[in-house]
Amino acid sequence: MPSATSPSHHQVLVVGGGTAGLTVAARLRRAGARDVAVLEPSATHWYQPLWTLVGGGQAPLRAALRTEAELIPDGVRWLRERATAVDPAARTLTTAAGRTLSYGRLVLAPGLRLDWDGVPGLAPALGHGGVTSNYRPDLAPHTWELIRRMRRGTAVFTMPSGPVKCGGAPQKIAYLAADHWRKRGVLDAIRVVLVLPEPSLFKVPVFNSALEAAARRYGIEVRLRSEVTAVDGPAQQVVITDHATGSDEILGYDLLHAVPPQRAPEWLATGPLADPDSPYGYVKADRATLQHPDFPEVFTLGDAANLPTSKTGAAIRKQAPVVVDHLRASLTGRPATTRYDGYTSCPLVTARHKMLLAEFDYDLTPAPSFPFLDTTRERTDMWFLKRYGLPQMYFRGMLKGLA
Ligand SMILES: Cc1cc2nc3c(=O)[nH]c(=O)nc-3n(C[C@H](O)[C@H](O)[C@H](O)COP(=O)(O)OP(=O)(O)OC[C@H]3O[C@@H](n4cnc5c(N)ncnc54)[C@H](O)[C@@H]3O)c2cc1C
Repeated sequence: MPSATSPSHHQVLVVGGGTAGLTVAARLRRAGARDVAVLEPSATHWYQPLWTLVGGGQAPLRAALRTEAELIPDGVRWLRERATAVDPAARTLTTAAGRTLSYGRLVLAPGLRLDWDGVPGLAPALGHGGVTSNYRPDLAPHTWELIRRMRRGTAVFTMPSGPVKCGGAPQKIAYLAADHWRKRGVLDAIRVVLVLPEPSLFKVPVFNSALEAAARRYGIEVRLRSEVTAVDGPAQQVVITDHATGSDEILGYDLLHAVPPQRAPEWLATGPLADPDSPYGYVKADRATLQHPDFPEVFTLGDAANLPTSKTGAAIRKQAPVVVDHLRASLTGRPATTRYDGYTSCPLVTARHKMLLAEFDYDLTPAPSFPFLDTTRERTDMWFLKRYGLPQMYFRGMLKGLA
């Protein structure tokens, strides 16, 4: 907690000590910024990409967890408080404890809000009666329990409409589950239904084809342009709405892996920094510089930013250097040279040791990091990269401002 003597003004105030906030703070320190504070109420930090593998029985939950204290970069002040409002004209921020902090530059990185109440019946059904979600770390091990125990019946995997973090995660767990059931010899007795709001499995055609092949291999029933619009936990039924025809279907399930609708935190969505063009209340940003067009002292990145690209940690790795460059330029008066091109990446796990690595930019043009490897094919080396290489790169490189 901040002491009574903790200063109420910071040259750079970073809201959120998650993937984006810590990466920016570490890079700012390396670039020589002296007065950087991170506002973060939580004592724990999650490496969320591992939650998929936890749900698939391929990693222990503890591998994804660190204390916030061990990750706050040296020389950065940690304010263990929650932001509740920003007044960008006054350059001040209010915290839940009632403090007012002022800033020279503000970096907004508080992530997004999982709207569990956005689907009627989902919130009370979670965690029992066969309902789970890898989007909650405490439930990711439960996902694996349900998959492990299942021998027959119907398994439904859902994705909501609107932007979600890691657009591939809702379907990756379906492939991991189906692959497990195939190996156990029970897949033929399980009806696997994947409900997706989009007109295809993936926006980039080459990855869409590979995912279609994976879904076919497992006999997964893919419902496109469709969404689960209600859950009846006690009856173990969902309502699937087909957006193409407007018709509803009631489907019984034995296992339901649900991904909730997602939106900006309420205090941001209703505040002056939200993008009026975003129905979900995400923060307005120039898509190349990540600077707020109306309040140039404000920058945003990560899940909270309204950018027309997929919300991932991999995107943040490319966004953070751009934020730091433009923020430093605005403090020193020297020109900034970098631009964010929308790069994002989705490691698409398709089997227990197989993965495609989808990397692309704002134009959906493939942007491979390993041009000498064909990552549009399912590969074992990419699975090892996700399970072991990327977590190391994250904790030892990215969060230290080095990668
Ligand atoms: C199941 C799953 C699988 C995923 N798989 C992948 C993957 O394979 N590859 C990939 O690149 N990405 C993946 N992601 C996405 C990736 O984890 C997120 O995009 C990334 O963590 C977002 O970083 P962020 O800093 O914007 O938000 P977060 O990392 O969520 O951090 C936000 C921080 O802000 C804090 N905060 C919230 N409100 C306030 C407030 N009012 N005041 C101050 N602080 C606040 C929170 O406590 C939190 O620490 C996955 C996500 C999930 C859930």
